[in-house]
Amino acid sequence: MTETIFAKIIRREIPADVVYEDDRCLAFRDVNPQAPVHILVVPKQPIARLIDAGENDEALLGHLLLVANQVAADHGIGEAFRVVVNNGAGVGQSVFHLHLHILGGRSFTWPPG
Ligand code: AMP
Repeated sequence: MTETIFAKIIRREIPADVVYEDDRCLAFRDVNPQAPVHILVVPKQPIARLIDAGENDEALLGHLLLVANQVAADHGIGEAFRVVVNNGAGVGQSVFHLHLHILGGRSFTWPPG
């Protein structure tokens, strides 16, 4: 997979507002927030898109969701938040290193645009 800006953030080669880190993932604030709380949860293992994950990644994917819960609770949005994964340029994926968007702190409409 082609390296992305998120790999550089994980290696701390470029700055980011990191709010959580463990051995498997990093969470940092989105540089262009779409809600009062907008945090990205990014696996350290470079998987380009969700569709590229396989059975070996099952535990990692579960871990990312549990970290999403923790990050949301830590930022006061545990009762109402949205988790978004854009898979593919056709739905808006712009960084091809898997990431969960954690969004909250305002109301949201459904369906999403
Ligand atoms: P997506 O469009 O789903 O691929 O989401 C990529 C997200 O990464 C966008 O919301 C961007 O604002 C965000 N982003 C891009 N570069 C950075 C960066 N250097 N630091 C934090 N967030 C970034």
